[in-house]
Amino acid sequence: GLKKHFAMESPIPFRKSTQSVKAVDGVSFDVFPGETLGIVGESGCGKSTMARLVNQLITPSGGTVEFKGENLVGMEGKKLRDYRKSIQMVFQDPFASLDPRKTIGQLIAEPLVIHSIGNKETRSARVKELLEVVGLSEYHAERYPHEFSGGQRQRINIARALALNPDVIICDEPVSALDVSVQAQVINLLKQLQKEYNLTYIFISHDLNVVKYMCDRIAVMYLGKIVEMGTYNDLYDHPKHPYTKALLSAIPKESPHDKKERIILTGSVPSPINPPSGCHFHERCPVALDICKTVVPELKETGNGHVASCHLLKDN
Ligand code: SF4
Ligand code: MG
Repeated sequence: GLKKHFAMESPIPFRKSTQSVKAVDGVSFDVFPGETLGIVGESGCGKSTMARLVNQLITPSGGTVEFKGENLVGMEGKKLRDYRKSIQMVFQDPFASLDPRKTIGQLIAEPLVIHSIGNKETRSARVKELLEVVGLSEYHAERYPHEFSGGQRQRINIARALALNPDVIICDEPVSALDVSVQAQVINLLKQLQKEYNLTYIFISHDLNVVKYMCDRIAVMYLGKIVEMGTYNDLYDHPKHPYTKALLSAIPKESPHDKKERIILTGSVPSPINPPSGCHFHERCPVALDICKTVVPELKETGNGHVASCHLLKDN
């Protein structure tokens, strides 16, 4: 069979203060080496929570998150340290994620220091190398974060994420805070690095336009559930779920023959503490049926690994 990096099984509720919040519910997906899996949805849909589960930043109270066949839940000791090295994260806000009192060199070397890798000289050589890899210069090592633009700071964050030679990088809205022209540069850099180092990306975004350039496969999330998953082309040409159709209708058309009508969704993503019954999407769905209020639709395969959960889908 295919080798996979990640396999995530549902359900994975987790605890937050005293309420049990099902921010990620019934999620199941695989991620394969060298691919980019996009996770798309409006804010509040559980995308970042899922990323934090994968990165073991939060502990689920059930379910499994497997990495290369090993369950991450409950992993400790050397195994956990090795896992932490092989998976890194790049966050949305390139300003907040860099300590303003540290030099760029110190910031990029930090993961090496934390994992006791190398000495002062080898680390400084590695920093220079990484700065060049992300399109900056070794002379930037002595400078401070405030001296850089948003795009440059995101390059610095990427250099830091690369320091430990990871297999996987989780990118949580990595370009959302940047100007459109700068977004393209950072995306091109990520793609180039992926080729060079055979990196696997989990790319979280609310922006299907960005995801289009980046992702091999896409998972669409709504209120903690994956409602549709498939290749970008399958999703774009033949979206099955009404929520995916609405998201797609909001992005600019690729050709004048494209007949997709803009679908405007009313309301926002409901609270995960008290999700709607039946299909979580029924209150906002323009084509909801009576059954949708009471019965949860299952994810169904529609061919070619394309899955969706909607009562309107016919059985094959
Ligand atoms: Fe809409 Fe019903 Fe399909 Fe949910 S199951 S997306 S409410 S038609
Ligand atoms: Mg988020």
